Amino acid sequence: MKYCPNCGAQLSDNANFCGSCGTRVDAAPQASEQPKKQKVFSMDNYRANREAQKQRLAKMKWWHWAIITIGVVMLTMMKLGA
Ligand SMILES: [Zn+2]
Repeated sequence: MKYCPNCGAQLSDNANFCGSCGTRVDAAPQASEQPKKQKVFSMDNYRANREAQKQRLAKMKWWHWAIITIGVVMLTMMKLGA
């Protein structure tokens, strides 16, 4: 048993049209349709991300930067040595 999506009238499973309001009804069994959440790009989201990233960077201790600097220097030296 299925129901008309427009008026809610009971329809036979093989009905293509609603007998009550005439709305076209798909013959395929209706799966409960969930509205797909679309990832919407918004400036607010973008700003929030940027702000979070800034705070993460601000939380980094000096030795984090030292490790990164040493890593970059070593990479550069390896490149020069090769
Ligand atoms: Zn109907």
